[in-house]
Amino acid sequence: MAEWNADGVERRLPTDEARELLALTRDIARREIAPGAAEEEAAGRFPRELFALLSRSGLLGLPYDPVYGGGGQPYEVYLQVLEELAAARLTVGLGVSVHTLSCHALARYGTDEQRAAHLPAMLGGGLLGAYCLSEPSAGSDAAALRTRAVREGADGDWVIDGAKAWITHGGIADFCTVMARTGGPGARGITAFLVPGDAPGLSAAPPERKMGMKGSPTAQLHFDGVRVPDARRLGAEGQGFTIALDALDSGRLGIAACAVGLGQAALDEAVAYARERRQFGRPIADFQGLRFLLADMATRVEAGRALCLEAARLRDEGRPFGRCAAMAKLFCTDAAMQVTTDAVQVLGGYGYTADFPVERYLREAKMLQIVEGTNQIQRMVIARHLVGPESR
Ligand SMILES: Cc1cc2nc3c(=O)[nH]c(=O)nc-3n(C[C@H](O)[C@H](O)[C@H](O)COP(=O)(O)OP(=O)(O)OC[C@H]3O[C@@H](n4cnc5c(N)ncnc54)[C@H](O)[C@@H]3O)c2cc1C
Repeated sequence: MAEWNADGVERRLPTDEARELLALTRDIARREIAPGAAEEEAAGRFPRELFALLSRSGLLGLPYDPVYGGGGQPYEVYLQVLEELAAARLTVGLGVSVHTLSCHALARYGTDEQRAAHLPAMLGGGLLGAYCLSEPSAGSDAAALRTRAVREGADGDWVIDGAKAWITHGGIADFCTVMARTGGPGARGITAFLVPGDAPGLSAAPPERKMGMKGSPTAQLHFDGVRVPDARRLGAEGQGFTIALDALDSGRLGIAACAVGLGQAALDEAVAYARERRQFGRPIADFQGLRFLLADMATRVEAGRALCLEAARLRDEGRPFGRCAAMAKLFCTDAAMQVTTDAVQVLGGYGYTADFPVERYLREAKMLQIVEGTNQIQRMVIARHLVGPESR
């Protein structure tokens, strides 16, 4: 059933429960998340209490199995919730997306015992996760990662040494899903582990000084003899890179949904301003030059939303969705970059100041084109689906 919200965004939600979830999300977004966003972003303050609220409200484990404390929602619904959160404050939307990504390896590849032991606290116990793949010298070429895990001692614990880079929630996460090398070079020598955030030997560098998203800490993590039992190995030895990429297929949909939310927020701001601001004796919304710009912005946001939800529905039906997810990440984040840039233009000089949120949106959009595989890497993924792997 179709439903239009106050902003004119069409929502097709499959159940009454999903409609209630969206209403709850909008309420929390408007009352708790949006207020203070500008100030807290400027101050670089991570809003941990908002994540506690989302956890209490059942919004931190939406696409996972209710048996383990998840919300049991299809991705189609989870992504629309995420879009609302990101529209209110991207730091929060991204945080929920990264947390959801961090739970994927355990939820999908863990044993029943592992799931029962850890998932309920991760999905609904107020914990926050980090996903640790990138390294200082292994970004796009993540299969070249060097962090090493070696089995030691009579009990066969794993000891992890190395450094991870650019880790969202680095230094504040309660648990980390870590990809480390346990075998030879390349993708097949990598294994996934679930590491407690307070494990001895695990430390974080000071957060990176970023151009935006200052309320979302991004930091290097150092593993100095971090010991984890084999019971915290996720999946088989050597399966870690497959697990990491599988998680990223779904994670990219989260980034795409965040981009749609950010684009919608920028569009709403531009439309409201264009109606109010007068020049040449008329609202600037009267001028065709701006009307066409707004129309193009709205079309980009809506097209991105449709692509994102198409990929989600393929995933929900159990059909291959990796190609569509890469397209959604590419299209939605490029669209967010364009739409936020255009929103600054609509606001003129005021758009270039911190008195309005659009300059922050523009800085935030740039990050979305880089994380979870740059948009060059998304094009490589899509091209491989079209014409096969590159020949050397
Ligand atoms: C704010 C933020 C948060 C992040 N959070 C996390 C996180 O939580 N966990 C995590 O593991 N990582 C995280 N990352 C890391 C992110 O995934 C990497 O930055 C990204 O994968 C790119 O790696 P890189 O920065 O090393 O760039 P590089 O790989 O060095 O790329 C540099 C440039 O070269 C291009 N390039 C590289 N190879 C190719 C190629 N074959 N063809 C064409 N172009 C190419 C890239 O597209 C890019 O433009 C985060 C990054 C940022 C900025």
